[in-house]
Amino acid sequence: MRYASTRGGAALASLSEALAAGLAPDGGLYMPERLPALAGDPGEGRLASVATILLAPFFDGDALAGELGAILDEAFDFPVPLVAMGEIGVLELFHGPTAAFKDFGARFLAASLMRARRRATRQLHVLVATSGDTGGAVAAAFHRRPGARVSVLYPKGMVSPTQERQLTSWDGDVAAYAVHGTFDDCQRMVKAALCNAALRAQADLSSANSINIGRLLPQMTYFAAAAFAVSRVEGGRANFVIPSGNLGHATACVFAREMGAPIGEIALAHNANRTMPDYLESGVWRPRPTVRTIASAMDVGDPSNTERLRFLYPDVATARSKLAACSVDDDAIRRAVREAWEEHGRQLCPHTAAGVAALGQVRSRAPGRWIVAATAHPAKFPEIIAPLIGREPEPHPALAALGPARRPREIAATPAALVEAIG
Ligand SMILES: *Cc1c(COP(=O)(O)O)cnc(C)c1O
Repeated sequence: MRYASTRGGAALASLSEALAAGLAPDGGLYMPERLPALAGDPGEGRLASVATILLAPFFDGDALAGELGAILDEAFDFPVPLVAMGEIGVLELFHGPTAAFKDFGARFLAASLMRARRRATRQLHVLVATSGDTGGAVAAAFHRRPGARVSVLYPKGMVSPTQERQLTSWDGDVAAYAVHGTFDDCQRMVKAALCNAALRAQADLSSANSINIGRLLPQMTYFAAAAFAVSRVEGGRANFVIPSGNLGHATACVFAREMGAPIGEIALAHNANRTMPDYLESGVWRPRPTVRTIASAMDVGDPSNTERLRFLYPDVATARSKLAACSVDDDAIRRAVREAWEEHGRQLCPHTAAGVAALGQVRSRAPGRWIVAATAHPAKFPEIIAPLIGREPEPHPALAALGPARRPREIAATPAALVEAIG
């Protein structure tokens, strides 16, 4: 399997090359040259085993092919339960070490990249922009890996206090920068730094954002596995609601469906950042300034992965037939948190609650089982959840063990400020 840029201006890359580069040299995003057809139900069992079957074609011909099983055993070492909440399913993706689904992509990327670089002589410098959860997951995945260094950029004042501790409490080779701007600014700064000649001369640069195809491949696997599990028991297809921001998660689910997993509808649940819903409605792609919401990990006004989605579904009519997108406001999110607690005794993070709140708008698109991706653990957002449910959320073991926050370095929202800080 080779990987091609969405912009068509770069040579085909091997998997190892695409993982290492992050962004394609022409500024595009790497896509698998084709999406392989699944041979059928990969069977029940541990996600690591099922994922090894699903991902084998993506490793075909690469130097890492023989190590796929070991990579997944290392990266996917926590449970992924699909639980019932009334009539809907909730796919709990938050049982990893930083309590958000970002652990799958970050741990898979770190396990793959460090194996691919076994004989590398230069330092690896991983740059990552975060709306809250990616940075902590990437820091945890790369921390104390010899020969690797991580720089995390986050929008100052726009992540939760727990997330800020997950970003700043590291020692050694993980540095956090609080940017005077939005997530979209952070992402632009990272993209610019990846192309900066002076930085490239110092170290091998890579991005751990969902512009990196290595974040998307592992995320495909649990959507496929859950859909096959539903189909085995109930027949038919599973429909997913995916709380969305930068749209890497939803793109991974689209990959799984294109490969033949029994997935029906894919609904993108956005908060008040309505760039994608507006695009599907109007047919005009118009990135917007970021709006602050209580589901802050989804505060993205210019989602990167629409470049992949529009590559797959180039005209808006096709996109409309393949995807639903809706937007819910903070009041609807709060209501969903309260109702889940009062009616089902379940605690939801604000992002998962946005997915549950969106269900009413999309459910009529298809019969059968609807599953909401539970993207983070509620204990990451006690300031928001506790007042709504009248108690502190259940603790998450990994969060209880976090060290104290350190003062991050603050920088202006310009590429030059980043280059100066990390150079
Ligand atoms: C990152 C994140 C999202 C959005 O995922 P994208 O791939 O950026 O669309 C949703 N919820 C949580 C908790 C997240 O951390």
